[in-house]
Amino acid sequence: MKKEFKAESKKLLDLMINSIYTNKEIFLRELISNSSDAIDKLYYKSLTDKNIDIPREEFKIKIAIDKKKRTLTITDNGIGMTKEELEENLGTIAKSGSSLFKEKMNEEKDISIIGQFGVGFYSAFMVAKEVVVQSKAYDEEISYEWKSNGSDGYQITKTTKEEVGTTIILAIKDNTETENYDEYLNDFRIKSIIKKYSDYITYPIVMDEEQTEKDEDGKECTKQTETTINSMIPIWKKSKSELEDKDYQQFYHDKFFDYEDSLKTTHLSVEGKCSYTTLLYIPSHAPYDFYTKDYEKGLELYSNGVMIMENCKELLPDYLSFVKGLVDTSDLSLNISREMLQQDKNLTLIANNIEKKIRKELQNMLEEDRETYEKFYKAFGMQLKFGIYNSYGSKKDELQDLLLFYSSTEKKLVTLKEYKERMNDSDKIYYVSGETTDKIDLLPQVEKIKDKGYEILYFTDYIDEFVIQMMPEYDGKKFVNISKENLDLDTEDEKKKLEEENKSYEEMFKLMTEDISENISSIRFTHRLKKHPVCLTTKGNITLEMEKVINAMPTDEKVKAEVVMEINSDHEISKKLKELYEKDKDTLKKYAKVLYAQARLIEGLTIENPTEISNIVCEILSK
Ligand code: ADP
Ligand code: MG
Repeated sequence: MKKEFKAESKKLLDLMINSIYTNKEIFLRELISNSSDAIDKLYYKSLTDKNIDIPREEFKIKIAIDKKKRTLTITDNGIGMTKEELEENLGTIAKSGSSLFKEKMNEEKDISIIGQFGVGFYSAFMVAKEVVVQSKAYDEEISYEWKSNGSDGYQITKTTKEEVGTTIILAIKDNTETENYDEYLNDFRIKSIIKKYSDYITYPIVMDEEQTEKDEDGKECTKQTETTINSMIPIWKKSKSELEDKDYQQFYHDKFFDYEDSLKTTHLSVEGKCSYTTLLYIPSHAPYDFYTKDYEKGLELYSNGVMIMENCKELLPDYLSFVKGLVDTSDLSLNISREMLQQDKNLTLIANNIEKKIRKELQNMLEEDRETYEKFYKAFGMQLKFGIYNSYGSKKDELQDLLLFYSSTEKKLVTLKEYKERMNDSDKIYYVSGETTDKIDLLPQVEKIKDKGYEILYFTDYIDEFVIQMMPEYDGKKFVNISKENLDLDTEDEKKKLEEENKSYEEMFKLMTEDISENISSIRFTHRLKKHPVCLTTKGNITLEMEKVINAMPTDEKVKAEVVMEINSDHEISKKLKELYEKDKDTLKKYAKVLYAQARLIEGLTIENPTEISNIVCEILSK
């Protein structure tokens, strides 16, 4: 007689049959983990029940493929199910035998029963058109068979299974136009799924393998031998003293497909409210797809050695998206939905600890092994900057001491702390942006500040100036852009003198800007230059570098920096301009055009009218 599934079970079944999951392969993980649970249960019983006489070494899970019949079979010698249990466990979703069992047996430390992993038994219907479960409970005489094609209920009948345990036979679906199911009948594929998700199941998972051997007469013959596929002990469950760096690196290469060693490996076991073990790697270089949409951050998530999620995003903040590794815990209740997982308090706790730990490791690396840190910084420093920028500065305190910038005096990357220690009486951190450190070094406005003995940080990442907007000061010292209009270097007297001079030539500057076709807001004399005649600075929030970056972005938002041309008031050219203002206003305007064109070229900007400028220059030269 056919029986209907209970209402909630039917819903889940429908989901599985018309599977929403892209990684259908996890059905095998579920069935293997159920088998492992069932063995755990029998093993546990055997510790107290004298009638059960199975040594631990004999427990195993066997996988067999029959290509002709299109079946995949999973057999365990675990506790098995009675008729009632088949009915109850496989006909109802709400029931979870494992978790009930765990509650009852809580005091025992010796055994670990794996709890709920969400999708469970029904996931078999993602790949099978029919599922047959034959089972014999350990203390029963009769064995039973449960059979279902999912959609129209299930049937339970007597069967002839003799050994205690459970056999699950999946009749694999036929290929469709869009889905390939044949892969679940492929030895190699099945082995790799087992390796991927169930490598650390503590019982052997075996498969028959054909091997060619020579018999006594030297003739070749094939022989079936059972081989164990899983390694059974996860590296992270071994004690640190047993492991060498090369073991960690080997695991890293195999698992995370990096051909280079990681820069840093962290193996940590935490006991407490929420106990977990984590293995974390900081790679030495960005993977090829790191800066593409395809890259997904995350750590692998395990529950007692069984992988339950390949990429748990919630375990890493975005700015640490480069970190690789895994977390193994038995303190998570995992449910079918990702949303539930996101709200899990333990998961948040683990994530916070990992974030702190990685920062600490980076800080240590910076202090103890600068060379390695610089290698790291070259690959991922940008991520730390994003961390400050994207958090609107709320991560500033945590991340600012991990930043490095090129220093004009040290000629190498320095930290803000090191900069501050060299500051003496100054209260400003000077910086300037440009394409490369070499180009910045040649900027006219750099010369005088260097001359005064100040250290300047050279910003060469496009994001740098944006980060500074979210981080206006470091440890009480303000960041000051030396390409901004109000650079406060003069004494009061000098300031006053310059102010007066600028005021009396206001009309001249107005005249000079008249014929300049590019973006310019004003012209003034300056003290910020030493030998050089002109430079460009900006007023307001948008600098020339920011203008370049924002306008290059594929959005409609376009911005304009308020550009000021500053002319060295001590330079001969200033005298000349003043003279022209008295005698020859037309020539003055031409001079202004040439000066402005020069200033733009120095900044690495283009000019709109190169021919006109060239003609003016030649005209002046030939006079
Ligand atoms: P869960 O494993 O979270 O309990 P499943 O849907 O995976 O949920 O399995 C439902 C129940 O079916 C299990 O709790 C267990 O009681 C029973 N079961 C499944 N597979 C086996 C098996 N191989 N041996 C014994 N019992 C099993
Ligand atoms: Mg299960």
